[in-house]
Amino acid sequence: MGLSKTIWTNPSEFLRNQQPMNPVMFFAPAVLQSTARRFIDGFPGLVTYAVKSNPDEMVIQNLVAAGIEGFDVASPVEIEMIARLAPSAAMHYHNPVRARHEIAYAVSMGVTSYSVDSHSELKKLVEIVPAGAEISVRFKLPVAGAAYNFGAKFGATVDKAVDLLKVVAENGYVPSLTFHPGTQCTDPMAWDAYLRAAAEICRLAGVKARRLNTGGGFPSHRLNGVMPELEAIFALIGRVADEAFDGNPPALVCEPGRGLVAESFSLAAQVKGVRDDEHVFLNDGTYGNLDELPITGIIDRITVVAPDGSKRDGAASPRVIFGPTCDSVDRLPGDVALPSDIEEGDYLVFSGMGAYSTATNTRFNGFGDMVVATVMSLAN
Ligand SMILES: *Cc1c(COP(=O)(O)O)cnc(C)c1O
Repeated sequence: MGLSKTIWTNPSEFLRNQQPMNPVMFFAPAVLQSTARRFIDGFPGLVTYAVKSNPDEMVIQNLVAAGIEGFDVASPVEIEMIARLAPSAAMHYHNPVRARHEIAYAVSMGVTSYSVDSHSELKKLVEIVPAGAEISVRFKLPVAGAAYNFGAKFGATVDKAVDLLKVVAENGYVPSLTFHPGTQCTDPMAWDAYLRAAAEICRLAGVKARRLNTGGGFPSHRLNGVMPELEAIFALIGRVADEAFDGNPPALVCEPGRGLVAESFSLAAQVKGVRDDEHVFLNDGTYGNLDELPITGIIDRITVVAPDGSKRDGAASPRVIFGPTCDSVDRLPGDVALPSDIEEGDYLVFSGMGAYSTATNTRFNGFGDMVVATVMSLAN
């Protein structure tokens, strides 16, 4: 028995050697760890990871190794996994609507931080969670700057948040506030508005919040030339929190998913056919790892790699890209510029695919089988 090679230099080395027939997710632990340190060094408070964006155990282990000490969990399965992989980490149960048995499970697992956005769900928490735990009131503002609106599902209005914060404090829980500006939020001013609203909620309630969770929403690099301005957002959050709370802000927390994990994975999907020199059919699509593209828009950092590992470099021409299933919504948004010399058997390598990809991959129509390969670098 020889040693099998398990860490590859980069995606094209793997593609050249393995000629995979299923989609491949390339994971670069070095990229994940350096992004984690960027958050830890730059964010003016505690950095937690929103597990749902990519619950791969290797992701959790690398985040722990990089120094991440808290996780935003939304279900008993996520709680069980974090308790197992990161037993000393804090868990924030920030799914504001939970079944009673889910709350009881969280209590039994030692979770002492919950979010809430309604009186009915707060009543459930008060009945089941021992006093002394932290309850963060989740509030929302009309959306700005994000790829899609999280406030459509969760978050109390400012008025209701004022009432909820009072009830939390009156019942002997640690009162805190939380919000989520919406995912892939490229406008730092969204945080500005939320931070000032948080201070207003505290003033109106007459309650001093212990902590203020500024959510996820940190953008990843989706489009060529548009680098995410994480440090600018961190600086704005620190400065505006100080201003809004007159120099005495609550302890800050953030819970990025996408911003932490997206850049550490690239996806390779193979061209099954170029139909009559027109439509490109891939072995992955919107029921697989590309599921969120119709919602958040195309990623235009796509490299086309031939089976021998070389890059296609023909002039760009627009193509319709379909996934492998028989459903006509299984199509990437718009026309996608691809090199004109693309051929059947080539691989499309999509950068920045670590968030909301493997997590929502389905087996629809018998597709969805995939592998994860670890690489030193994601440069092709
Ligand atoms: C999904 C989610 C996040 C992570 O959002 P990103 O946009 O991926 O950073 C953070 N907090 C909560 C409560 C969430 O539901």
